[in-house]
Amino acid sequence: MRLLPVLLPTLVLFAAPQAPSTSPAPATRTVLRFGHLWDGTRMLDDVAVVIEGDTIVSVDASRRDMPAGAVDLRRYTAIPGLIDLHTHITYYWDRKPGTKPLGQRRRPAMTVFLAQDNAKRTLETGVTTVRDLGASGETDFAMRDLIAMGAMTGPRMFVAGQGISAGRGAAPDPEAMKKNAEDRIKAGSDWVKVYGSRGSFDSVDTTQTITFDEMKAIVDAAHALGHKVAIHSYGPSGVKDAVRAGADSVEHGIDLDDETLGEMVRRGTVWVPTIDHNRYYVDARDEFGFKPEAIPPLEEYIGKNLESTRRAVKAGVKIGMGSDAVYSMFGQNTRELEWLVKAGMTPAQALAAATTTAAELLDEKNRLGRIAPGFAADLVAIEGRPLEQITDVITGVRWVMKDGVVVVNKVGSRQ
Ligand SMILES: [Zn+2]
Repeated sequence: MRLLPVLLPTLVLFAAPQAPSTSPAPATRTVLRFGHLWDGTRMLDDVAVVIEGDTIVSVDASRRDMPAGAVDLRRYTAIPGLIDLHTHITYYWDRKPGTKPLGQRRRPAMTVFLAQDNAKRTLETGVTTVRDLGASGETDFAMRDLIAMGAMTGPRMFVAGQGISAGRGAAPDPEAMKKNAEDRIKAGSDWVKVYGSRGSFDSVDTTQTITFDEMKAIVDAAHALGHKVAIHSYGPSGVKDAVRAGADSVEHGIDLDDETLGEMVRRGTVWVPTIDHNRYYVDARDEFGFKPEAIPPLEEYIGKNLESTRRAVKAGVKIGMGSDAVYSMFGQNTRELEWLVKAGMTPAQALAAATTTAAELLDEKNRLGRIAPGFAADLVAIEGRPLEQITDVITGVRWVMKDGVVVVNKVGSRQ
């Protein structure tokens, strides 16, 4: 957690029931009983999970009994709370008839309040942590801090603030980019987000906009301050330069060559292909008012994006799950998992992209992405067989716990 020191006293005040080490009252103890449980690495049967406060204290398999007072989730399979590595949770649309998502303007404080709906829809997909890669008006900082305080319900957030992009027609200036990165971090960004190319919404323009030297200046400056960098690139040259510059993750991309894939493997760069977000734009074309001629290029991009992911999986590149969710895509955060399976991953490998691999990228591999003693009590109960049929993760979320608190409960209600 990267909370500003000034927030810490407030955190203790608001989060007392979930913060056993700082709370005078003993931590609440909860026992959960699942039929099956995938702990992030393997499948267990007949499991009892004991939670104290916000932390998992034990995971016991092969239990015959139903411990007194335990929550009976035996008809479900538990998986760790999922991590969506690429969202824009403050991109909110109120769906008012006659309006479009991209046309609405409002004050930052209203955005923070209204975007709670995006946060709620995200939790309903089993996502309990997001890396939010781009927001304006510091709205993402506010949501991150309010959620961490317990004053707002939503996924735990790692945020980038305003992304860094090049001014159109401006000459490359690595010094200025270095300062941009330092300024973002000073302002409160956990991550630095860089728009290394054009391309977004109905545009699949792959033109690179930030040079290698500029990317390198940003990455070096961020790393020197202990922060990580995510670089957006729709085209292959930007991905190649981002990887060579030392980006921790690269977002989007097509037509990746073998050299780039090899370099990703060598450096451990995480690739977040975000295949599903263009599927969303195709499906939501009327909402956005996209022109008909914008659709075939989006579809072509999806095909190339999937093909590169297939090659990356084969090459052994670390793949992360990111939805790139905006506006009405919240609630569809995990549909990317189906594309990852289409690209050749097993359901367990696809789930790793949203759990262990993602947690490692966030420097949280000892707290998030697994159901194990000492980890945050983030668990999702799935109806179906998620390790055999990945679509069950997308449609079968019935119950979600985050930090020991039940945040989604559809158990018993008819689906
Ligand atoms: Zn994005």
